[in-house]
Amino acid sequence: MLTTTKFKEEFEKIIEGLYASNLEDTSSIQQYTALGNFIKSYSSDNWNKTNQLYLEEQVKQVYYFSMEFLPGRMLKSNLLNLGILTTVREGIAEMGLDFEAIVKSEVDPALGNGGLGRLASCFMDSIASLGIPGNGTGIRYRYGLFQQKFVDGYQVELPENWLRNGNVWEVRKENKAVMVRYGGEVYLKEDGENKLRPIYSNTQNILAVPYDTGMVGYENNVVNNLRLWSAEIPPEEEIRYKTIAEREVVNQITEVLYPDDSNYEGQLLRLRQEYFFTSAGIQSIVRFFKKQGQPWSDFPNKIAIHVNDTHPALCVPELMRILLDEEGHSWENAWDITKKSISYTNHTIMQEAMEKWPVDMVRELLPRIYQIIEAINQRHLDRKISLYGEELTYRTTIISEGYVKMAHLAIIGSHSVNGVAQLHTDILKEETLHDFYKMYPSKFNNKTNGITQRRWLHLANEKLTQLIDDKIDQEWKVNPAELRQFKAYSKDSETLNQLSDIKLENKKRFAVYVKEKYGIEIDPTALFDVQIKRLHAYKRQLLNALHILDRYLKIKEDSTLELQPRVFIFGAKAAPSYIYAKQIIKFINALAHLVNNDPDIGNKMKVVFVENYGVSLAELIIPAADISEQISLAGKEASGTSNMKLMLNGALTMATLDGANIEIKDLVGEDNIFLFGLTNDEVNQINREGNYSSIAVMEANPRLKRVLNCLINGTIPGIEEEGRVIYDSLTLFNDEYYVLQDFASFVAAQERADTLYQNKLAWNQKALINIASSGPFSADFTIMRYADEIWNVKGKAEKHASFLKGNQPI
Ligand SMILES: *Cc1c(COP(=O)(O)O)cnc(C)c1O
Repeated sequence: MLTTTKFKEEFEKIIEGLYASNLEDTSSIQQYTALGNFIKSYSSDNWNKTNQLYLEEQVKQVYYFSMEFLPGRMLKSNLLNLGILTTVREGIAEMGLDFEAIVKSEVDPALGNGGLGRLASCFMDSIASLGIPGNGTGIRYRYGLFQQKFVDGYQVELPENWLRNGNVWEVRKENKAVMVRYGGEVYLKEDGENKLRPIYSNTQNILAVPYDTGMVGYENNVVNNLRLWSAEIPPEEEIRYKTIAEREVVNQITEVLYPDDSNYEGQLLRLRQEYFFTSAGIQSIVRFFKKQGQPWSDFPNKIAIHVNDTHPALCVPELMRILLDEEGHSWENAWDITKKSISYTNHTIMQEAMEKWPVDMVRELLPRIYQIIEAINQRHLDRKISLYGEELTYRTTIISEGYVKMAHLAIIGSHSVNGVAQLHTDILKEETLHDFYKMYPSKFNNKTNGITQRRWLHLANEKLTQLIDDKIDQEWKVNPAELRQFKAYSKDSETLNQLSDIKLENKKRFAVYVKEKYGIEIDPTALFDVQIKRLHAYKRQLLNALHILDRYLKIKEDSTLELQPRVFIFGAKAAPSYIYAKQIIKFINALAHLVNNDPDIGNKMKVVFVENYGVSLAELIIPAADISEQISLAGKEASGTSNMKLMLNGALTMATLDGANIEIKDLVGEDNIFLFGLTNDEVNQINREGNYSSIAVMEANPRLKRVLNCLINGTIPGIEEEGRVIYDSLTLFNDEYYVLQDFASFVAAQERADTLYQNKLAWNQKALINIASSGPFSADFTIMRYADEIWNVKGKAEKHASFLKGNQPI
């Protein structure tokens, strides 16, 4: 047991050892580094033991391959999971140091774009917390996603040098490095034993060096591993890299995270990155497997390889390559092992986000991999044509029209394909991947996304966590299904008041941040209306903005109007190449400027667009939210996860029936959510009929017409160009995402929200029901389902049992 006395002793020793100075002379960054070191050494024994245990017991292990992990700050989360948060916080205070300042000195590494990377990190937390033997595999980017600033309302991108002060959590393991080969020529040659072996020449060899980070499980002594790979020049080849430009090519591979969120970007470098970490990861798995000395037929019983979206889909041909070329397996054997080991999660149905690479690019960069992909494709066609006919089979081909289709490769090369919410999986089966579904119906399954309640409630909202503990005791923390007991308090006025006090406190905390950072005064008693997510046309921040504009005009028209005061809060980065998204940012910022500085408006409305939205800001904003805007066009948002985080913190969802919103609605009931807008079926019908006219919708609705006119008539200063572009896209170009179609029902739903907010008791009841209904969205449950139904791995026995007990189907 760690005591505060013991902690203080250790901490001071570390400070002295690191900085040869006394506590008083250290900065909070140094104190943070020292605390990080303390945590690392405190958990290193368990980290080592966990590894040893997995090796000795030869348990089946999961390898979760993801191009992105978006972990957020790790200090508090590690302390919480190690069960020493309270002790350490007390110790720090006793030494006269500022714990929160130390926490804030940690950089929040933006190593993911958004939902996909954050999901991977929530999963790592749950995998460790369930005691499942699981590893993350990814890229150690030297620069994360750009830092966003607004200059005159425009997004400006600055480099994110997250390693500036070093990274206490990682351990460089150069003894585990592997070589990744690109380019050159390859041909097959008889090896004398009747086997064809590839002969490579003129390849570019890059050293992949792993950096490991411990993934600490929640109070269970488990520390799993996240392995991120970094590209380096192999020491023995230094001589070949004479110029800075030549060296740059190598460094570039793991230099920067690509800032495209769901938009396809055909870049050679991106393909290099994808092959880099899949090859390094697969090589490292095979090396570990061989160390155990088991028969190859056991490989799928010991190893589960999970491909998070198609970015790591080269796992398929890479594992084939190693099995065929290096281990001398027959094609049939290698294919059997590969398919049984690999599973794939699809994250999108948007065509433009489906990865495909030009054949020439793949062939030149990865000649042997391309040969293998061709062979996989040929065998696929040969086997399936007789069964499914040419037409359908050719629609499933991996290589077509000069491109390699990564989703097709992932589906054909794996034993499981899952969507991330029920509607999304249904759409995959019925539409997007229907041909594959016909061929492989049993491969398809749904795994609705989840979030870790540890970061998104225990840490982000300590007061609410305490309240729940007080009412229903602590078991819900290890079995979130028990959160539903909290529902029993939905009519208890004392609890409802406490809940509302906590919300108010969280809103005040955010208000202080807004005042300090932007000089904007927001009233914590106003309704806080939150939309935080990447900026994308399908997510429809524009719809939100049009509603704000509508409200503004209403107040301007009649200053005596009694409207529920609201603060509209946005957080969103736009991909730098996504011009339209950036124009929407400019529009919202200009609107915010207009609204916030209009004396007629006062406290009736404020609009705050925070810069550089990321995990840490999410942790500040989510506990302060009253309304959660989840307003994507139905059928477009695969799942969403901010919807879950906000619900867990007692926000009411303003929702279209899209992604996991549908499951939220099923859990809370229609009385506890604001629904509006087209359904997926209705969208499909309109698309089929092809008779949508956004201009007709505008002409039929004077309020909407007035709002749209403000985009082009100078009402909002500074958006001459952006206003016109947005106006045209909504009218001339017929409004691809049905913003105008959904406007009226959105505004009506917002009016219902205003009315309800007047009735504090009713509002708080609904908030409580949302919190109490959110247990099923714990990533712990999601991971249990992956473990049972896809990976076939077991967690620590007692945890497993307690989870299965609470694992009610949604
Ligand atoms: C949860 C989260 C997301 C995902 O948000 P969606 O609304 O589901 O798209 C994106 N970014 C960050 C920082 C998050 O924490």
